Parts: sequence; structure tokens; C-alpha cells
Amino acid sequence: MDILKERILKEASVINAGVLKLDSLLNHSVDPQLTMEMGKEFASRFAGEPITKVITVESSGIPVAFATALQLGVPLVFARRKKTLLGEPDAYCERVPSFTKGIVTDLIVSRHLLSKEDSVLFIDDIIANGDAARGLIKIIEQSGAKLNGIGIVLEKSFQAGGKALRELGFRVETLVRIQSLEDNTITFED
Ligand code: 5GP
Repeated sequence: MDILKERILKEASVINAGVLKLDSLLNHSVDPQLTMEMGKEFASRFAGEPITKVITVESSGIPVAFATALQLGVPLVFARRKKTLLGEPDAYCERVPSFTKGIVTDLIVSRHLLSKEDSVLFIDDIIANGDAARGLIKIIEQSGAKLNGIGIVLEKSFQAGGKALRELGFRVETLVRIQSLEDNTITFED
């Protein structure tokens, strides 16, 4: 998506060699038109799959996952992030490190929202080490649902997450891939 690359170059800032700040497009505000384009792109890439639900993680995954679900005509489920000391018997729960917050949070999905009848598409904003994705995949597996694919807006391909998921056999589609943030410069793949 060339338009997305242009917007990233214009609006993102490099925090350090591992972290990009992209508040205007993904993490603190939403461009509805561009987000709908992202949703259309994911929907067309996964058009051949029998998707019954789109799933994401709150909060930054929700807009693009919503746009994708709207295009596919299926419901959207989002995992809640909670810090909890109590067990949640009615929910699937996985503990994951948060890349940007430096803390550990629990991903929680109510059991009644996901079942073995579901074929899900996991959509998210950014993949770094893949911890959030692996946590959500465990939840999907616990529910008995089938994971039909993973769509990520921005893959930082110099970090291990996307590659690790592909090596596990998952289909991972990303809209833009950044191969480096060294020297305060955003370098795309291709
Ligand atoms: P992972 O679990 O793959 O290490 O990190 C995924 C989550 O951390 C994403 O959903 C995203 O919200 C956040 N994240 C990872 N890398 C970045 C980054 O460079 N910038 C921002 N703003 N968020 C990031």
C-alpha cells in the first residue's frame, strides 16, 4: 500500500532503533478513510477463506479489525487487556509482555465469544516480537476455533515476530514492512 508508506514517512517519528511512533494513524487517532482502505485490502487478501469472525487485541487493533470485519460481513471480537490477580473462569486468558508498556498484561476473551465452530482472521496494528500474537493464538487454540490467517498493518521485519509466526505455518499478510529504523530513518522492505 503505497499511500500507507507515504503517510508513515510523513507522520511517523522514530523513537529509537526499535520503536516507531505512529499516533496519527494507528495508536492514538484514526483516519477513517485510510483505515477503511486497509480493511478492504485485508478483506481482499483473505477473500478465499471461510472467515466467521475477525479477532484483535484492544486498543490499537480495533479500528483496522473493524474495517476488515465490515468488509467481510462478519462480527469483530477484541481481546481485552487487563491486569488481574483473579482467575476468570468464564474467559480464556493468556499473560503476555507488552512491547511498548514494559509490563505484563492478561489478554482475555469471554468463552461465549469464540467456539470450535469459528474460523477466525486475526488482525492487528503492529508486530514486533510477536508476543501479543502468540498469546491470542493460544486463546484461539484453547477455544477450538480455527485460525485462518493473520493480517498486520505494519511489520517491523528486523524484529522476530512475523518470521516466527510464518515458520509456525501461519499465513501472515502485512501491508507494509519496515526493515530498519537505524539512524533515525524509516527504511521499507522492497
Ligand atoms: P509484540 O507483541 O509483537 O512484541 O508487539 C505488538 C504490540 O506492541 C502491537 O500491538 C503494538 O501496539 C505495540 N508495538 C510494537 N512495536 C511498536 C512500535 O514500534 N510502535 C508502537 N507505537 N507500538 C508498537
